Amino acid sequence: MSDKHIYLDHSATTYIKPQVFDEMLPYLNTYYGNPSSIYAMSHKTEQAIDQARERVALALGAEKAEIFFTGGGSEADNWALKGIAFANKHRGNHIITTKIEHHAILHACEFLERNGFEVTYLPVDAEGLVDPEAVRQAITDKTLLVSVMFANNEIGTIEPVKAIGQICREKKVLFHTDAVQAVGHAPIDVKDMNIDLLTLAAHKFYGPKGVGALYIRRGVKIDSLIHGGGQERGKRAGTENIAGIVGLGKALELAVAEMPAENKRLAALRDKLIKGLTRIPHTRLNGPAGDKRMPGNVNVCFQFIEGESLLLLLDSKGISASSGSACTSGSLDPSHVLLAIGLPHEIAHGSLRLTLGSSTTEADIDYVLEVLPGIVQRLRDMSPLWKNYLQAQANASGHAV
Ligand SMILES: *Cc1c(COP(=O)(O)O)cnc(C)c1O
Repeated sequence: MSDKHIYLDHSATTYIKPQVFDEMLPYLNTYYGNPSSIYAMSHKTEQAIDQARERVALALGAEKAEIFFTGGGSEADNWALKGIAFANKHRGNHIITTKIEHHAILHACEFLERNGFEVTYLPVDAEGLVDPEAVRQAITDKTLLVSVMFANNEIGTIEPVKAIGQICREKKVLFHTDAVQAVGHAPIDVKDMNIDLLTLAAHKFYGPKGVGALYIRRGVKIDSLIHGGGQERGKRAGTENIAGIVGLGKALELAVAEMPAENKRLAALRDKLIKGLTRIPHTRLNGPAGDKRMPGNVNVCFQFIEGESLLLLLDSKGISASSGSACTSGSLDPSHVLLAIGLPHEIAHGSLRLTLGSSTTEADIDYVLEVLPGIVQRLRDMSPLWKNYLQAQANASGHAV
């Protein structure tokens, strides 16, 4: 184990910032009243939830009554898809999404396919971008819902959400976006962007885990996923996760306030890291460069090596990173996102995702750039693919002589 600890996996999850924790704490030990009760302490918790709802609404350009708290991003994604599908099935059975969505979307779509719905999975280009015109062409008179993520969690691509929202509005089809990677990190205005439903999760912007929200535009018909008490205006039952909701609201308020300066800082560190890494021979950047990429995302493939072994060696140097995404590591399949941008299996296997955040300093980036080339070389020296490549090179130059 190294003494150093450099955390470069902020897209998998983040820590709770101290200001957020301080606001949450009293709701774990002092103000524990059930918001549905009538005594004074309950009133205090009810007000805290109300303030958090107000903060989320403000951050998204929504109204307070359009924000519904959930138990995280996956729940909100499932709710959006299944809730819209079942509430509107008299109007059609077709859903449009993309090949690069998070598994919370893809696996919910597969569930819907097993229950009589039809799903179109749109392809993306080599940078991971969805073509809005492809969305238009995929819409039929049976289409209920289009779900396209705001920003991809693996390769950082920012999708043309506003253009897609515009097309959906014209065609009178509902538009959901999984904005878990974007909320608190990119400017969002649900009204301006024609978004009908939007998913967010607190732990991706320095709030607590296990709490998220679904924005549902006023007037949209949606079924509940969790039935029970009358919480969240009868749409999502269960005693509220008060401390979690308070943390979500505070974390989002902070993230929005810090966004302009923080994004500038992160984009500069990101570009320095990309520049340094792509100097390593046989290395490619996955996803776009510049403004179409999330400021904290770096994703590269080192040819001839295996992502998992890379992660272990990085860990031994104190660097926490991921290959593909947190949800796919542990499986031997290459990332569905890297395959969708057209990478062959053997290259997709050698991917590394480094996601920067508020704790990341320039010294961290320098350290990564100092140790990574040696690690990549060490792994290549052990790789049969690399030996084959060197042999092929030698043969080719032999013939040339
Ligand atoms: C993390 C993530 C989710 C899942 O959110 P949870 O809060 O972990 O359930 C969904 N979509 C995207 C794009 C994510 O990055």
